[in-house]
Amino acid sequence: MDDTERVSLLIEVGEDMPVDKYEFLEWYKLNPLVRADLMSVTEGVRPGAKLELWRFQENHPLYYLPQQQVLENCLKRFVLSWVEHEGVFYVSSTRAHLDHFLHKECTEGEFLGYPACCITAFEEGCEKSLAKLDVGPAVKFWRKTKQHHNLLFGCLLHIPCDACCEPSIAMAQAVKDVLEKYDVGALLALSELNQGAFYEFHFRYPEK
Ligand SMILES: [Zn+2]
Repeated sequence: MDDTERVSLLIEVGEDMPVDKYEFLEWYKLNPLVRADLMSVTEGVRPGAKLELWRFQENHPLYYLPQQQVLENCLKRFVLSWVEHEGVFYVSSTRAHLDHFLHKECTEGEFLGYPACCITAFEEGCEKSLAKLDVGPAVKFWRKTKQHHNLLFGCLLHIPCDACCEPSIAMAQAVKDVLEKYDVGALLALSELNQGAFYEFHFRYPEK
C-alpha cells in the first residue's frame, strides 16, 4: 500500500465513524458527576435531571461561576430546556415536561423519571426518619445491599425502594450503558460516589 492509498483509506474510515456529540472541550470542563446526571437526559434514559451546582459553590466558591457558565453552554448546545434557582438547575429534554413540573402537575420524583415504587418508598421513608421511627431511606437501602450486592448499584441516580427493585436495576443498567459508551470518567465518578454511600452507611452508622 502506498501513501496515497493509505491516506484515502484513512479518509474513508474517518467518514464512516459516527459523530460523537460529546467531543467538545466544554463538556470535559463540567464536573463528572454533573456529566453523568446530564447524560442520562441527553441519551433519553430519563426525562429530567436536577443539577445541584450550589454544592460546588459551598465547597469551592471559585469553581462555581465557571461551572455555571460551562453548564449553560452545554445545555444550549444540546437544545435542552431548563430553569435555575439558587444554584439548582432543573433540566429536561422537552419544555412541556419542564412546564408540567413547574406548574406542579407532577412531583419532583416523577419529573426525574424515578420508578413509582421508589418515589412512594422514599417519601414514606423520609417521613418515618423525620419522626425518628426509622433510619433514612438511603441508610436503609445501602445496608440492604450488603446482602443483595449488585455491581449496577454503582450507576444509580436515585435511592431505590429495595435492593431487588427491578425498575431501578434496569435504569442503572441503562445509565451504565450510555456512560460506558460516551464518558468513562463520568461513570467512574458516579460509581465512586455510590461506593462512598455504601461505606458511609455500613461503617459510620452502627448497624441496628
Ligand atoms: Zn422501586
